[in-house]
Amino acid sequence: MDCELIKQILPAYVKHSASEESAKEVESHLCVCHQCRDYLSKIIDKPFTPPKENKEPVTADRGLTFWEYAVLATAIFILCFFIFLFIKG
Ligand SMILES: [Zn+2]
Repeated sequence: MDCELIKQILPAYVKHSASEESAKEVESHLCVCHQCRDYLSKIIDKPFTPPKENKEPVTADRGLTFWEYAVLATAIFILCFFIFLFIKG
């Protein structure tokens, strides 16, 4: 998917009104494209952070520890790396 198309979807993505499929396309594109990340940052006026998975009430009220953040960040990095490899073929 190319940048122009992503930029058209991004406003809907920010408002959570994009389809699930579009949202996934946007997320995988954002992993590999810093231009679109910059564009998204301008729209939402803050740096892009990938959405957290599994928003469980139990973990929500105590927050994450440093090591949980570290593991989460590593997992996201590995995910992005594999998506990048996949796109590169
Ligand atoms: Zn892009």
